[in-house]
Amino acid sequence: MTNSGNIVILTGAGVSAESGIDTFRAGANGGPSLWEQHRVEDVATPEAFARDPELVLRFYDMRRAAIQTKQPNAAHIALARLEREWPVRSGGGSVLIVTQNVDDLHERGGATNVLHMHGEHLSAWCTACDTRHRWTGALIERPPCPACGAPALRPDIVWFGEVPYRMEDIYQALAQASLFVSIGTSGAVYPAAGFVRTARELGLQTLELNLERSQGSAWFHETRLGPATATVSGWVEGLLER
Ligand SMILES: [Zn+2]
Repeated sequence: MTNSGNIVILTGAGVSAESGIDTFRAGANGGPSLWEQHRVEDVATPEAFARDPELVLRFYDMRRAAIQTKQPNAAHIALARLEREWPVRSGGGSVLIVTQNVDDLHERGGATNVLHMHGEHLSAWCTACDTRHRWTGALIERPPCPACGAPALRPDIVWFGEVPYRMEDIYQALAQASLFVSIGTSGAVYPAAGFVRTARELGLQTLELNLERSQGSAWFHETRLGPATATVSGWVEGLLER
């Protein structure tokens, strides 16, 4: 472990839930989560995009439009405040937010050091020239790539079966941190669910803030239960006023 004072924060669906973002994570009554009779796992895959691109683009166009109507909540805003004030408070420590969320609510809450390991709704990826472009509109009409003109833009989302982004950067940040905090994640989706074990092996302090005990709770030094708007705000205030 380093005494850097650096904090790595992993966030998941529980941070955005109170902003009204539908995560499609769990279906009603424990069944598969559905969108228009399609299992989400059957829409969010490269195979689905190859088989039925219109369906996949329509799904993501709806999601992209929906998140733009939502607002950051107290948890997003508290984390942005921590990112701003922690370097001074800790004598040089940094805050990195690693998020599994594909919305932009951390950024709109004021955070700047955000790593989207599962991609972003507001980004389009050109598979012809491998460039990425901020994108707020629809993709279903196959608009030309702003860089190369090819109608080859796809959602810049890490689909099931694809490798999450910037894993090396995440492990490097963990290796240089003193504290790992997991907020609003189920502890069920790898590789993110394994970060706490890596953190423990590296000797970091570990804290979980979650609505309920997660599959990974036993790995954390401490777990605080409750809605993210309450637990995150309380934790940040305690840290900054300590
Ligand atoms: Zn292109």
